[in-house]
Amino acid sequence: MKNGDRWAALFSRTEDLDRWEAWARRVDDKIHSFLELEPTRTLEEQPVVDGPLRGTPFGVKDNIAVRPFRLSCGSRLLSSFVSPYTATAVARLQGAGAVPVGKTNLDEFGMGSSTQLSAFAETCNPWDATRVPGGSSGGSAAAVAAGLVPFALGSDTGGSVRQPAAFCGVYGFKPTYGSVSRYGLVAYASSLETIGVIAKEVSWIRRIFPVIRGLDPRDHSTVEYRPREARESKGRPLTVGILKLGDSGGDAARLSPEVRAGWGKALEALPALGFRLTEVELPTLDYVVSAYYVIACAEASANLARFDGVRYGERAPEADNPEELVRLSRSRGLGEEVKLRILLGTYVLRSGFQDQYYLRAQRIRTALRRDFERIFAEVDLILLPVYPCAAFKRGDETMDPFTQKLSDVYTSLANMAGLPAMSFPVSVESGLPVGMQFMAPPFAEEMLLDACGRYEEHYPAPDSPLFSRDWRA
Ligand code: GLN
Repeated sequence: MKNGDRWAALFSRTEDLDRWEAWARRVDDKIHSFLELEPTRTLEEQPVVDGPLRGTPFGVKDNIAVRPFRLSCGSRLLSSFVSPYTATAVARLQGAGAVPVGKTNLDEFGMGSSTQLSAFAETCNPWDATRVPGGSSGGSAAAVAAGLVPFALGSDTGGSVRQPAAFCGVYGFKPTYGSVSRYGLVAYASSLETIGVIAKEVSWIRRIFPVIRGLDPRDHSTVEYRPREARESKGRPLTVGILKLGDSGGDAARLSPEVRAGWGKALEALPALGFRLTEVELPTLDYVVSAYYVIACAEASANLARFDGVRYGERAPEADNPEELVRLSRSRGLGEEVKLRILLGTYVLRSGFQDQYYLRAQRIRTALRRDFERIFAEVDLILLPVYPCAAFKRGDETMDPFTQKLSDVYTSLANMAGLPAMSFPVSVESGLPVGMQFMAPPFAEEMLLDACGRYEEHYPAPDSPLFSRDWRA
């Protein structure tokens, strides 16, 4: 059956829909990928359109607005907030016939790498329920890896689409900054983040990206999408710059034996697939995570100031003056990690200290961009790991929030430079999927998708033990 046809009739036959929903709930009970799963919730307002994606169900990370679903951001503060509007990316997919069937779990406001920091549920990895699905878009990745939906939307501020996709053995696509509207994405760090796509097959991402991208008057950072001329004329092999790993990036960047094994397999496979390999160095690698967290926290502290218990969400009823209202609502509604980042953000932005932190971080960002310009003058793509380890155990104390932050070394690069990047599965090691990522120059998504597609022919995404191609079976 042609990719997608399998889903086309889902919403036109009640028995199919009922059977699918019952099956999806049964599977989701094992992994808790959805915070809300209500396949027909949006249909009253927006009936299925007869477009190229007709009847395709998809999941949406719960920091992306879909009317009339809740928009909790995984936070107690917004636990009862219902979205009055729909994000541009979702509305465009609905316009092409796809149907948002529910909201997926995440680390609170997208801050984290394991989905353990959601106020509501702990999502399990479909490969092994004792392990995390990665994060912060862990619900979207787990739902796709379990086959509940063919694709799901996530957001990637520092790796939150690519890392959970790698942990769950599926594809994670982060487009160029500004190519997909952020209207309706609850802002965490506006200058770093994009909406991205998680899917089990590259072909889904190929179909979804043209639908969601492009200028949106509601988001002034968007641009008219103009694909970069592919430098590859058919026949010329693509040159892949292999990131030199060495000692840079610190201890936390060192690859686990599983990821090292996957890295070796990718390096072995690429020449046979027609890629030419060369080594590239990134001198700024050592400084990127620190700079990323300075910028991300600074922006978060400003973006999250709106959640004051007055305009949105839960409000402390007993407060008898406005100051107390804000204090009580925020201290009860927000989790520890979010508070920590707001504090860090306000600290680095304090007057008199900006030179020391924020401006320095911006200078590192500029240096990193120059590094990439230099590298992309020589190569078409860069290959690098996604994360230093595969899916870790839930509750693993060695993966404390600080270690998790340091481990964002490979993913945060693309966000700091605004570049497109995509993670793809390369192997299963000791029962766990391992992914690598390609990075490309701005607006070279076509090349990125082609490269991942070529790899997919050699090594398609492995099926997780929960994956089922057909709920009718
Ligand atoms: N782990 C990173 C962070 O916590 C990435 C988050 C994201 O991409 N939303 O900031």
